[in-house]
Formats: sequence, structure tokens, C-alpha cells
Amino acid sequence: MMSTMKNNTDIVNPVTAVVADSNGEIFDLEGYAAVGMAGNHLEVLTGSETVSMPHGSELMFLPDRMPIVYNLSLDQFETLEEDPYHPGEPLFPVAVFNSPGYVNTATCAYEEEDFAAYLPLFSYGAVGWHQDGFCSAVIQVDEEPRQDLRLMKMEKVHAGIRAMRSLLPDNRLRSHLEKCALEYSCPAAKNFFIGRCEAPLPTSRKCNARCIGCISLQKEFKIKSPQNRITFTPSPEEIAGVALAHLQKVNQGVVSFGQGCEGDPLMAAHVIGPAIAQIRSKTSYGTINMNTNGSLPDILSTLFDQGLDSIRISMNSASKKLYTAYFRPVKYCFEDVEASIDMAIQKGKRVAINYLNCPGVSDSKEEADAFQAFLERHPVDLIQWRNLNFDPFRYWKIMSEAVSLGEPMGMKNLLERIRVRFPEILFGYFNPPRERFEQATASRQK
Ligand code: SF4
Repeated sequence: MMSTMKNNTDIVNPVTAVVADSNGEIFDLEGYAAVGMAGNHLEVLTGSETVSMPHGSELMFLPDRMPIVYNLSLDQFETLEEDPYHPGEPLFPVAVFNSPGYVNTATCAYEEEDFAAYLPLFSYGAVGWHQDGFCSAVIQVDEEPRQDLRLMKMEKVHAGIRAMRSLLPDNRLRSHLEKCALEYSCPAAKNFFIGRCEAPLPTSRKCNARCIGCISLQKEFKIKSPQNRITFTPSPEEIAGVALAHLQKVNQGVVSFGQGCEGDPLMAAHVIGPAIAQIRSKTSYGTINMNTNGSLPDILSTLFDQGLDSIRISMNSASKKLYTAYFRPVKYCFEDVEASIDMAIQKGKRVAINYLNCPGVSDSKEEADAFQAFLERHPVDLIQWRNLNFDPFRYWKIMSEAVSLGEPMGMKNLLERIRVRFPEILFGYFNPPRERFEQATASRQK
């Protein structure tokens, strides 16, 4: 049972609730307003706090849970165990998996049945019905159409696969990426074959973290990992082959180590280092980036010396306790991650934070203060605001056991606070080419 519920008497322009029946049919519920959740805090969604559901977003039906809505005539929050218009008919909550570039300001509001299992690894944004369309509780942080499916036609992907087969016939990494593009529908792998933006360089089979929401290896929470980890370690030649095929073709191209289908790339530095050296011996074009947990500063320092341009460090929190509760690091600690960031900044490299955010935790006062203090200590170039793909209510409970979390301030207020305090830090979602950082620096110096 939710411990705190706030009645909202001054609701202006409420958004209508959407629910699903047991056949998965989604419909709006006349007389009830949609509700957003942040931990155990509830808020009625209004027209001014939502936008039309972004293109490419997906609606999801949540099993073994009951929707929380706002009864406009009785002026109260309600958990619906059945359809008020068809007594006896169960109702289920509906959430939205918003497209890349949009930060959830609230998650779907529901109560779990006692027998409910963990939700699969997606983010569960709050959604409603407004002005004849679905609307999401989000803020846009990146307008780049890098993963816009309308620009990634499958016929172009297939044509690219044929071309790369003849260019890199015996390259195992090339064929692994075919599986990623066709079976996992990985946008980064598709972009490699289409020849646009950023290409992935999955390399590592191991990781020294045990993230509760790991998308490539799940052992505990009876959750299926959406991808399987790469089953071989590509050679430096195979990595360089794929990277050069992309960088020599794509203007301001980016190639990135550290993908969803692998462990942490720092654990494969023995092949990544020589690969980077091979790439840079052939071309100075493009950006070589690494998405990593940043756990091994010395190894990272060597990779920078071999030509790595930028890093994106993943973290769910700037508080050591909350970080440790999520990443469950093995033989490293939060301070090692901070040391990696400081070393990268000292070397003049570009540093982004992959901030895995979730309303109720990220916008709690405790986390907001920790994040501000962290950015004061470590002036990074970019914050990538990424919705955490994990059961939002269970995540809040796990984090609340690690640190007692107060009333959330709202994601909108959090982003505004960080933007005002750190005007020089870019907000985004994707790994930008190094030219973008240079442009931002140049425009700041004007
Ligand atoms: S750092 Fe990445 S690969 Fe490692 S456990 Fe976390 S999500 Fe999985």
C-alpha cells in the first residue's frame, strides 16, 4: 500500500487516465485523471506537464499490478482493482517506453499484487490521453534523430550488410553486428550498416560490476536480460576493420566500445589498446569513444595515450551508497570511478556521465545534493540523461533501503537546478562527435 498520497484540489487541465483490460486492449477511462509516480509520491498529470507521446515510443501493459488513477468527481486517488464501468473486469496499468532523447518526469502509477514478479528491463514512463492522442510525462534533452526509426529503413540495413560482407568477409565482429541489427534490432548496429552517426564495437565478455539492471547478464531477479553477452573476444584487427569501415565513410562518425551486448570494455583493454593504435595509424578522422563503468583509471589512462578520444561513465547515483547498491562493484569502488573522471579531465579528454535516472530517486533531495556536489568536484562536459531500464517501484525500494530518500523535487526542477548551477555542462542523450564538444567550447569562449 502506498504510504504517502497527496490530494490535489487545484488540478488544471488534467490528462485522462489510460488503462488496459485483460486482453491488453488499451483505452482511456472517462472521469479519471492519469497519475504519475516518483517513488511513493503521486502526482496528477496535466496538459502543461506532458507532451505528445514521442514518435517511436511503445505502450506497455503491466501484469499483476493495479492502476492508480485520480477520481475527478470524488477528488481522490484510487487504486482500481476492477473496471468501474464493467464490475468484475480487471484493469491493468499502461506505461510508455519513451523514445531516446526524452527524460521521464514520472513513472507509471500502480500498486503491485502480492504475487507480482519483477518487471522486465525497460523504463516505465507515465502516459495519459489528451487532445485526441497519447501524451507522455517527459522532457526532451536531445533532438538528434540518431535512433529515429523513420531514418533507419531495413532495406538500407540489408544493403549495408551485403556491402560489409564483401568488405569484411572473415570479420567475426562484423557478423556479430549483423545479429545485433537483425535479431536484437540494435539501433547502433543498424547505423553501422546504414553508415550513419555512431557504430558499436562490442568487445568484452567480462565485467567487474554486478548491476542489478544489467542488460547483458542477469542471474538473480528472475529477469531475462534483453541481450546475450558477446561470446568471443574480437582481435585488434577485427575491431579496427569495423571501426575504419565506419570512420572512413561517415562524416563526424563516432565508434563506441561498451555496448549493451557486452561486459565492461576496460576488461578487454589487451585487444582494445592495439585496435585503437591501428585505427589511429590509418586515420585521424572521427571520434573513438568508450562507454564504461570507469572502474580502472590506470588502464583507462593507457587507452587515452593510445588514442581514445572520449568516455561516457555510467552511474545511477553520485552517492557512494546508492551507487554501490546498484552497481555492486567487484574489487573497485566509487572513488576509482571519480579518479578515472579526474584523470580524463586532466588529460583534456571529453567526459560524459551516463546518468541512469529514475523519478523518486534522482530527484530526491539527497541525490540532487550529492549530484551537485559531484559535478562541483568533477566538471564533466556532458550529462546524458537516460531513463533507467528497471522496475521503478522495486528500484526505489532497493535505493530507499540504502539511503532514506525524502520527498522528490520533480525531475523538471532537478534539470533546471543543474542547468542553472552548471551552464557550461551540455545536456543530451547520445555520444557526440568530438567536433560537437569543440563547437560548444568555442561558443562559450565568444
Ligand atoms: S557495468 Fe554494464 S556490463 Fe557491467 S554489470 Fe553493469 S550493466 Fe552489466
